[in-house]
Amino acid sequence: MRPQRGAATAAARTAPFAAACCLAWIAVLVGSSVTWWEYWLSLGLAMTAGSVAFGAIITRRHVWLAVVPSSLLILAAAGLLRDAGGGIPSGAGALAILPVFQTALYSRSRRDLGIVLAAVALFFLVPIWVVGAPGYPTSQYRTVLLAVSVDAIIGLTTQRLVGRSRHEAGEARLREQMLEQVSEVVHGLFDSPQPRSDACEAVMRIGSARSALLFEPREPTNELVCTAAAGIELDGRELVVERRSAAYQSLDSRQPILNTENVQARIGLIELWIAAGRPSSVLYQPLLRGDAVLGVLAVSWPDHVRAEGPRATVVSLLAHEVAAVISRADAITHLSDEALTDALTGLPNRRAWEQRLTELSAAKGNAAVAILDLDHFKQFNDAHGHPAGDRLLKHTAAVWRDQLRTGDFLGRIGGEEFGLLLPDCDRSVAHAVVDRLRGAMTSGTTCSAGIAVQRPPESPEALVLRADQALYQAKAEGRDRVRLTEAGVTGASRAH
Ligand code: GH3
Ligand code: MG
Ligand code: MG
Repeated sequence: MRPQRGAATAAARTAPFAAACCLAWIAVLVGSSVTWWEYWLSLGLAMTAGSVAFGAIITRRHVWLAVVPSSLLILAAAGLLRDAGGGIPSGAGALAILPVFQTALYSRSRRDLGIVLAAVALFFLVPIWVVGAPGYPTSQYRTVLLAVSVDAIIGLTTQRLVGRSRHEAGEARLREQMLEQVSEVVHGLFDSPQPRSDACEAVMRIGSARSALLFEPREPTNELVCTAAAGIELDGRELVVERRSAAYQSLDSRQPILNTENVQARIGLIELWIAAGRPSSVLYQPLLRGDAVLGVLAVSWPDHVRAEGPRATVVSLLAHEVAAVISRADAITHLSDEALTDALTGLPNRRAWEQRLTELSAAKGNAAVAILDLDHFKQFNDAHGHPAGDRLLKHTAAVWRDQLRTGDFLGRIGGEEFGLLLPDCDRSVAHAVVDRLRGAMTSGTTCSAGIAVQRPPESPEALVLRADQALYQAKAEGRDRVRLTEAGVTGASRAH
């Protein structure tokens, strides 16, 4: 496959030059007396130049041979041909443009073009100096000057045009690749368990950036906090950008801002600028979802990025997707939070309680469960009204929550019934915690509680059942008290 493609490329590249050369070598034979040894030598040189160029292109090895060396060989061949045909009258001087054109087409280097232009000047000058009139009269200096100037203009213009079209073709290819990646990545983001980090990762990768950070406004001050990052180690630090950062400007104006000057000052956090590897370009891209601005993506590159270039374009394209992914993830979190939260007290509800219990390992043990139930709550409702009963439930939940540590789990598991799960807790600590909760009761109300401490391999269900039985006993013994059962021993007789 490769050699075939190489052959086609080589043929396409060399054919126009070969055709022009054929024409020149035939034309010289018409109407002029030819110095044959020079003619054959020039033909040999021209064929060598062609073979060198063709071979280099077809094998893709030492491709440089196809530019300056083969151009110089062609010039030498053209010089000999011109001499073989009697000098200037042969007309072979016109061939000098070929190597210039060839170099301008296939080399981006100004130096290469300069070498070939210098060789063209020598091509015209050396015969005037060495051979002289009548073949090469000194009157030709003007022609030399003009020919070299015109060749230089053609060469430089061609080189610039080719460079620009190559650059544009490269950007178009890059854009195409990026678009393909965008559609691939977006699918994955919607299913991702960590959509924010994965979105940053995708933006960094597809946008060929050094880092990508997501900043989101935090209530109530709306300060911008970094909620995910790729390409930068945050080590659990919280990054809050300063008000002067362009991130705020982008958030407020809902417009992307590309900083390529004064990047350090506009980033609004010097350590961030250093951590991002002192970037030369940072793009602040707002994440828009309908009328809302969800946040700002800050994407950095080590080099100069153009606003209309493929990298900035792909980031703005991805921003739409990232905004959709984030708002969907937030909606799901909100829904599942709602499904697991008791609307009146804000505590985890029965479903959350059961979910939490399933996470409790039967093998590990050491957890304590308490079921707390308000005493005579029906009477309270009857005496003060249902809304007052609601307020009492809400208040009790709030004061109890304040009494607990972070790892403790308190849920409302029935009307006026609460479940408390204390991981890694022995009976005396469990007892103390429940007493503390009972002591926090207000409005002259009391509650009863049953506690069970887990011993492996007791299942969570069995543990809760024992706590329930202990509660039943506390109620039966007159309420406003705690009863605790040991593992494996159920029944009221062993309750304390
Ligand atoms: P005990 O000491 O035996 O637990 O008596 P109790 O009256 O607390 O228990 P019972 O099971 O007889 O009654 C529970 C009451 O809790 C009945 C119900 O109206 C009330 N209740 C349940 N959920 C709510 C609620 O969300 N708000 C209010 N205000 N009352 C509720
Ligand atoms: Mg009750
Ligand atoms: Mg009850």
